[in-house]
Amino acid sequence: MTDVGIVGLGLIGGSLGLDLKALGYQVWGVSRKAETCEMALAKGVVDRSSVNLDLLASAEIIFICTPIGLILPTLRDLIPHIRPGTIVTDVGSVKGAIVPSATALWPDFVGGHPMAGTAEQGINAAQKDLFKNAPYVITPLPHTSMTGVEKLSTIVAQLGSKLYRCSPEAHDRAVALISHLPVMISANLIRVCMVDEEVELAQNLASSGFKDTSRVGGGNPELGMMMAQYNRSALLQCLRDYQDNLEQLIQYIESDNWEQLASTLTFTQESRPLFIK
Ligand code: NAP
Repeated sequence: MTDVGIVGLGLIGGSLGLDLKALGYQVWGVSRKAETCEMALAKGVVDRSSVNLDLLASAEIIFICTPIGLILPTLRDLIPHIRPGTIVTDVGSVKGAIVPSATALWPDFVGGHPMAGTAEQGINAAQKDLFKNAPYVITPLPHTSMTGVEKLSTIVAQLGSKLYRCSPEAHDRAVALISHLPVMISANLIRVCMVDEEVELAQNLASSGFKDTSRVGGGNPELGMMMAQYNRSALLQCLRDYQDNLEQLIQYIESDNWEQLASTLTFTQESRPLFIK
């Protein structure tokens, strides 16, 4: 069985370790803090753990599961310790800012993004079967090694995830549409309400509709910042498209064009189930 390395034993890295060990892989884990490494051993997330990357010298495939901003620096630090031909992948939720640079550093790099998670963080949040039935996107470049793509695809299938394959740009655009744009729209909704003269009454009347539409805009600011900084161009493009569509809606209402408004709302009513399966 393949020996697997994981760097960054948090929610995603820890959950991967639990599943890969259950599948029979030998799992070696590296994390920043010694107590996290000890906890990972105690929780059965890894077979061996260390704060030093040289633990992963003979791993055949390595998952980098650190926060996004540390993926490229971690790969740079890892390279002196690993053999040519070692497959390195990441789990970062944006791909364009990572995959081309990572591939330039290490030709056997294959970008990946398991689209599963919880609101929790750290090794204590790790759970079994987190990736089961969830999409797992891999984003090879035209010259990415087929061996790496096949090895990663096999593991993704064993995790019970639904495999999707696309370019880093297509991934980032799709994720901007369904995840990053909604955060900005929802944040703006809260912002508009907070400066309105009837804000107090609105706060007292708010119910389930507002709860649904404000949820992602009222979340952790660090996540929204990460989306904007690392998926900047795709997010900007989506925001501009949104602005154009909003302008159109304003025109329909201003000109009492109820026919156009009704057909737009019928279209959106019919389209929503295509996203929420
Ligand atoms: P997390 O729970 O905070 O885990 C990241 C872990 O990385 C931390 O627990 C930390 O462990 C470790 N770490 C930090 N700096 C390190 C370093 N220099 N070297 C080695 N380990 C280091 O975060 P997460 O939610 O698992 O996210 C990790 C990655 O998964 C991110 O790139 C994110 O984009 C991606 N992702 C997240 C989700 C989600 O919903 N959360 C979903 C899909 C993908 P210590 O305790 O040792 O400091």
